[in-house]
Amino acid sequence: MDQIKITNLEVFCHHGVYREENVLGQKFLVSVILYADLRKAAIKDDLTQSVNYGEVCHFIKEQMEKETFKLIETLTEHLARKILIQFPMIDKIQLEVKKPWAPILLPLETVSVVMERSWHCVYLSIGSNMGDKENNLNKAIELLDLDDLCKVTNISSYLVTDPVGGVEQADFLNAALELKTLRTPKELLELIQQIENTLKRVRTIHWGPRTIDLDILFYDQEVIKTKELTIPHPEIKNREFVLSPMCEIAPALVHPVYGKTVCRLYEELAYSANE
Ligand code: ATP
Ligand code: CA
Ligand code: CA
Repeated sequence: MDQIKITNLEVFCHHGVYREENVLGQKFLVSVILYADLRKAAIKDDLTQSVNYGEVCHFIKEQMEKETFKLIETLTEHLARKILIQFPMIDKIQLEVKKPWAPILLPLETVSVVMERSWHCVYLSIGSNMGDKENNLNKAIELLDLDDLCKVTNISSYLVTDPVGGVEQADFLNAALELKTLRTPKELLELIQQIENTLKRVRTIHWGPRTIDLDILFYDQEVIKTKELTIPHPEIKNREFVLSPMCEIAPALVHPVYGKTVCRLYEELAYSANE
């Protein structure tokens, strides 16, 4: 991907563990690589289609002066997030914050923290079979989008489906969503559980009725298996109510374990059901 590089932007500000640092301030140097698709801007010679690096520099300075952190780790993380949120054209950022006057009573050229952060593409399954189902789905999507670190980028149509798992209960309303997020998989799971709690989901019977259920289907092309998280979701290939809406919003997405597109998995499920 194309890059815009900013090297050693100098900002005088007050971050540090020691009180003296917070009072007197010192020099920090910030270097950034912004990853974005610059082809359109380049061909059209049009700044509005690119990332304005002047604006990025002023934004960094403003952010560094606005708040005071003890650690350059925290400062770097904070800056990476703020820049990715403020400038939507940037897909990924590499950020280095140097502290050349770090007060360690030894001569050094500089100390720095380097971080790489990017938007991740995630697909979620969402379902409800209690109360005002449509409103429950709308509300959950709204809460996801309200989170600073998430933006909902695509929503399938809502699909009425029979319940699975053998528990006698009402029909479900299901959908799939595409999301861009700066959260890690674990942080995203925390957010969806928080939203489920806000919408008063009560955990009673496994696979039983619920006001809202949010599952992580895919997180980029990652394969994760921990005690609390399995990604891709293990039931994808068996669920029409997942594959049908996924086919609508991301038919060509490849399942990282099976190496097949979502559309192909849907065809295979339909075929096995007709056998
Ligand atoms: P299913 O996951 O088969 O659809 P369910 O949605 O009814 O079943 P829940 O009671 O909502 O199951 O979740 C049980 C646990 O599953 C959660 O606490 C969570 O830790 C874990 N889990 C594992 N992988 C995922 C995933 N990809 N998305 C959401 N939760 C997951
Ligand atoms: Ca589920
Ligand atoms: Ca779930």
